[in-house]
Amino acid sequence: MDFATDAAVPLLAQTVGPLLAWYRENGRDLPWRTEPSPYRVWVSEIMLQQTRIGAVLPYFDRFMTAFPDIAALAAASDEQLLKSWEGLGYYRRVRNLRAAARLVLARFGGELPSAREDLLTLPGIGDYTAGAIASIAFGRPEPAVDGNVMRVTARLLDCHADVTRPALRETVRRQWAQVWPSSEAGMFTQALMELGEVRCLPHGTPVCQQCPCRDICRSRAAGTALELPYRAAAKERPVEERTFLLLVSGGKIALCQRPENGLLGGMWEFPSAPGLLDAAGAARLLRSWGAVHAVPVPVGTARHLFTHREWRMTGYLAVLPDRTGDWVWGTPQDLKERYALPAACHFFRDRLAAFLAEPEQQSCNPGE
Ligand code: SF4
Repeated sequence: MDFATDAAVPLLAQTVGPLLAWYRENGRDLPWRTEPSPYRVWVSEIMLQQTRIGAVLPYFDRFMTAFPDIAALAAASDEQLLKSWEGLGYYRRVRNLRAAARLVLARFGGELPSAREDLLTLPGIGDYTAGAIASIAFGRPEPAVDGNVMRVTARLLDCHADVTRPALRETVRRQWAQVWPSSEAGMFTQALMELGEVRCLPHGTPVCQQCPCRDICRSRAAGTALELPYRAAAKERPVEERTFLLLVSGGKIALCQRPENGLLGGMWEFPSAPGLLDAAGAARLLRSWGAVHAVPVPVGTARHLFTHREWRMTGYLAVLPDRTGDWVWGTPQDLKERYALPAACHFFRDRLAAFLAEPEQQSCNPGE
């Protein structure tokens, strides 16, 4: 059945009662559900974009402690902001959060607006997040349709259309809007999300036997649930190769900051050069940086997938007698508490920590 057909709406309407009843019994207690203030719902929804609940949980309380309200978030420095998000990835989200907090103070008297149209004017809030905040925090019957809900809907309807077509989300949102329960709007938003998280799973076999919609679901009846949602083949990600140099001198580590705009804007990383250099190439690079006697020691290779690109990385460690170069030199403690490193660099950060924990290895530098 196509998403847009008239027959889709009555089928979706049948799910409302069973889903709400199931959620009342089975919904998990999550920090933003037990205390659903608009600010907490907003932050949780931004954190949950492209990130699963289990990964968000350790960050949420820490973020709330650091920035307990909109005014505190608006006043956050770059360093505080990026450090609070370190490891969650997609750092543009937290920059947008702060920009939106400042706009909320300037335009809405410090209170997050409840209308979908107003929410959509804030940076980082798109259709899905506006629907989630309007329904969960303010009880408005606004559907929130993300990839999760697209998957559940495609399976409920046994719809084989390509869900990556952007226009389809609006179609699905309009269909759900006709049946979204106005008296329990927020609970229904969360019930549908929960179904996608714990029953109608994105990877692996959906748990249809324990699904409250099993008697309604068309794809379960047709045996096609595992084929759905259908996605046209994705384009391959472009690959970037990089060589990181972990430079240590007198117990401090060289760091440089990425440009404000662009990928991982404002984050910190180790000095690097394009390409996958061998040891001789890394030694030449060190010499070009003025570290004439340093010997690069390989520490391994890693790869990191971003949404639209892939990094393939190799790394070398070198102990320098002097702190040369235009880098910032931080202690291991600074790396933990002050400078936010993107997840792509965590492999090398951990290799560096292992090296610093065994100081006798520092004899690898014959220049000392
Ligand atoms: S019956 Fe299975 S495929 Fe259908 S909505 Fe439930 S979990 Fe998903």
